[in-house]
Amino acid sequence: MKKRVIILGSTGSVGCNAIDVLTRMGDDWKIVGLAAGSRCDELAEQAERLRPDAVAIVDSNGAAPIEASLTYSPQIFRGEDALVRLIEATPCDCVVNAVVGAGGLAATLRAIELGRRIALANKESLVSAGSLMMPLAARTGAEIIPVDSEHSAIFQALHAGRRADVRRIYLTASGGPFRTWTVEGMDAASPDDALNHPTWKMGPKITIDSATMMNKALEIVEARWLFGLRPDQIDVVVHPESIIHSLVEFRDGSLVAQLGTPDMRTPIQYALTYPERRPCPSEPLDLREIRRLTLEPPDAERFPALRLGHEVAERGGTAGAVLNAANEAAVDLFREGLIRFRDIAALTERILAEHDFKPSPTLDDLLAADRLARQEVTRCTTC
Ligand code: MG
Repeated sequence: MKKRVIILGSTGSVGCNAIDVLTRMGDDWKIVGLAAGSRCDELAEQAERLRPDAVAIVDSNGAAPIEASLTYSPQIFRGEDALVRLIEATPCDCVVNAVVGAGGLAATLRAIELGRRIALANKESLVSAGSLMMPLAARTGAEIIPVDSEHSAIFQALHAGRRADVRRIYLTASGGPFRTWTVEGMDAASPDDALNHPTWKMGPKITIDSATMMNKALEIVEARWLFGLRPDQIDVVVHPESIIHSLVEFRDGSLVAQLGTPDMRTPIQYALTYPERRPCPSEPLDLREIRRLTLEPPDAERFPALRLGHEVAERGGTAGAVLNAANEAAVDLFREGLIRFRDIAALTERILAEHDFKPSPTLDDLLAADRLARQEVTRCTTC
């Protein structure tokens, strides 16, 4: 029986890597659905090549209808709820959620309700709504397998012992392009400087999040929900080579890590095939060629975004939705040249501190908090 997979966010960096992994895995895997945000032409090219049963496009404004460039007739979904309708209409074994941002939340929740395995790259949905997603998954039996490289490493390392014996985890951070920059340098940094990541090749939103280290803040919150850890059990260590993907420390002091070349195809494939392991196209690590592995503490002064991760993991409630939404909006403004690099973290921190906190939010509360936070970012920069 073929394993059927839907890829949400198929034209992005993780989506393209997922297609690469799946097409190399051979005949027992089939891509049954593809979905993209707005890149209609690229989605059509992928659909023509892979022939999924269904495709979805969220924003097709201005583009020629996708069916005009297809020589077969898949089911086509369009508009705001296209991802959710695609998931409902297309039977599958696994949903790869590689959407960027909180726009991936509704699709994640629907896939969980339907009990599907989710290979989750969309960390923003866990950051915003982990308090709803995890109990829902426990009820429906949906497996949430992380694609984020650090969380994939933790997920793998946790198999070495009992959950009750975990003392803490270390998430590794590359430190991004500004690891050694001065505050003055960072004040003058352009979007191009921030997009120049030293080790990982990723989409623009996460690359800027790596430069501010907001990515690590989001990953602290992500780890808190995924693994049910207390925030004080989650540490961050800077590791510029991006070879050690993260570590678990057990109560006897043993550290168990997962290592590998920085290539997203490894964690993507593992999330699909788990618990099986298969040969992967990523370059194997040659330990004889690695001269050194550097580990250093993060600099909370130059990277103030980092402490927001622990704060939000501690507070829960609406804090995650606000952190994520304010950051997404601020990153957009920075990319448009409307705010400076260091304003991203400063604005996000301010909006988080001032928001109307709710400790036990419903989904509607979270969506409202998300909307308000985005409006506040815009308001703060125009007044
Ligand atoms: Mg990561």
